[in-house]
Amino acid sequence: MKKFIVGNFKMNTTLHDFAKYLDCFLPLVKECKNFVALSIPYTHMMLASQKLVSTNVVFGSQNISTEEKGAFTGEISNLMVKDLGAYFTLVGHSEIRKKFRETNEQINQKIMRALSVNLKCVLCVGETKTERNANKTKMVLKKQLEIALKGLYENELKNIIIAYEPVWAIGTGKTPTTKDIEETVDHIRQIIMDMFSQKSADKILVIYGGSVNQNNSSNILKIKNINGLLVGGACLNPVEFANIIK
Ligand code: PEP
Repeated sequence: MKKFIVGNFKMNTTLHDFAKYLDCFLPLVKECKNFVALSIPYTHMMLASQKLVSTNVVFGSQNISTEEKGAFTGEISNLMVKDLGAYFTLVGHSEIRKKFRETNEQINQKIMRALSVNLKCVLCVGETKTERNANKTKMVLKKQLEIALKGLYENELKNIIIAYEPVWAIGTGKTPTTKDIEETVDHIRQIIMDMFSQKSADKILVIYGGSVNQNNSSNILKIKNINGLLVGGACLNPVEFANIIK
């Protein structure tokens, strides 16, 4: 089955850097069978919509507003992102949860906004180190998922990709063991089963993110309940990211 590999640029690269990146990256992944998605700064989207047309790579945003339009200075809406040709948006990335105090309720609103304009969502969930040490991982994931997915119809889950990203693994070079990831992803699927059905729990895409690089990616992709990867730092090097994808 095709793996879903997402690169998260975060707040990196100028438009010029990004153009050069694509010139190097696109030929490297041209023959690749996996599904490739780039989560890029808003300022790069117009260029992405031109350069990625007729390629096997899609792009998306790293966030959207809870609102559709109006007096929300500095925000970008679902409609604006969709209008530029985005395929998806990230929602609930831990950096936004933490630095901008984004709540699970706001994440739910953003998901509703995204789905209303046919944007897929890569929903990031995961526990902090403190929560993990206090044995609260399962509880935290349950709360994050139950609130974020509240009010969704079961058939909308095909537009949701869950990214399990332990916060303590993001940008730190640390990763859970493959056994840990497998157990936690089983738990995520159990939550989806309790909220929706066994069929949805089996079908929903769950990917892993947190210090993935070209040395550990193939082992993580071998975990049987994992459908792909969310790659931050390592996606900024087009050659390394292409190696991960391949
Ligand atoms: C991320 O930004 O979602 C991420 C997983 O970052 P990194 O790969 O750098 O840990």
